[in-house]
Amino acid sequence: MRVIRTIAELREEIAAHRAADGAGQLAAGQQTGASVGFVPTMGALHDGHLSLVAAAREQHTLVVMSIFVNPTQFNDGSDFDHYPRDEARDLELAQTSGVDLVFAPRPEEIYPAGFATTVSVDARLTSVLEGAMRGSAHFDGVATVVSKLLIAVTPDAAYFGEKDFQQLLVVRRMVTDLGLPVEIVGGATVREADGLARSSRNVRLSDDERCQAAAIPAALERIDAAVARGERDTETLLAAGRETLRDSGLTPEYLTIVDPETLETVASVAAPARCVIAVPVGPVRLIDNRLLTPDSALHSASERTA
Ligand code: AMP
Repeated sequence: MRVIRTIAELREEIAAHRAADGAGQLAAGQQTGASVGFVPTMGALHDGHLSLVAAAREQHTLVVMSIFVNPTQFNDGSDFDHYPRDEARDLELAQTSGVDLVFAPRPEEIYPAGFATTVSVDARLTSVLEGAMRGSAHFDGVATVVSKLLIAVTPDAAYFGEKDFQQLLVVRRMVTDLGLPVEIVGGATVREADGLARSSRNVRLSDDERCQAAAIPAALERIDAAVARGERDTETLLAAGRETLRDSGLTPEYLTIVDPETLETVASVAAPARCVIAVPVGPVRLIDNRLLTPDSALHSASERTA
């Protein structure tokens, strides 16, 4: 596994891989056997990130991971300052999980002096939910850095977690609108035994807060179970979820049920919808989401928490 700090070196490595893998045995115009899978991360790696690496490893001859704590997507300076960073540990995990190249640039490599370009996805997708809580600069920061990384890596496919459901939607929209030649693959949320979604921020929870946080997947589970029993009314479903949170002393920043394409709130779960939630727990805010399908037979095993 190689660790690369500059875009120029990254391009060289990837071009060399594409040229070498399968070269010489193909007629002109045919594609080589090389294919590049890309997993963008902010480090503090956990099983959620590693599941995306495993999915990429199955499909591609070269797996590239970026590790970059992107300052422009943090609205809260304290969250940025306290974001867990341990490059040595991350590199070890990346290596053992099968990453070939780690791109870990310094901020000035991504944002050189005079940087003045922003990629901005329409407010209908970016001013709601996380955008409403974190400000419009958040998804501008995400869309801009992801564009820059996709242009630098030029992967065949890039892997993003459903855990950040809105982010996945925003990235898909941006890639479609800009016509970037990359497939965006969504990976199922990896959870702890009690259902809590793995997150780099979980390490900042005290033991008590970690216990409280289990109410987040429990609330989603309760809502899902109510849908499976035939409840369709959004307000009734959300009231049940809020009660589960309240019993653990938690109040959500938002808990709502949205159309999975437009993120508009729905009044009833008449078609597949996403229940999305953000909750402050101690020093961090945690987000999660769950697919709700009115036909319970459609519920996949992976959506059911342990
Ligand atoms: P981050 O380092 O938090 O920016 O996350 C990097 C990628 O990993 C994003 O596409 C996330 O959605 C994804 N990810 C984070 N947590 C999980 C999880 N628990 N399960 C699956 N993917 C995740």
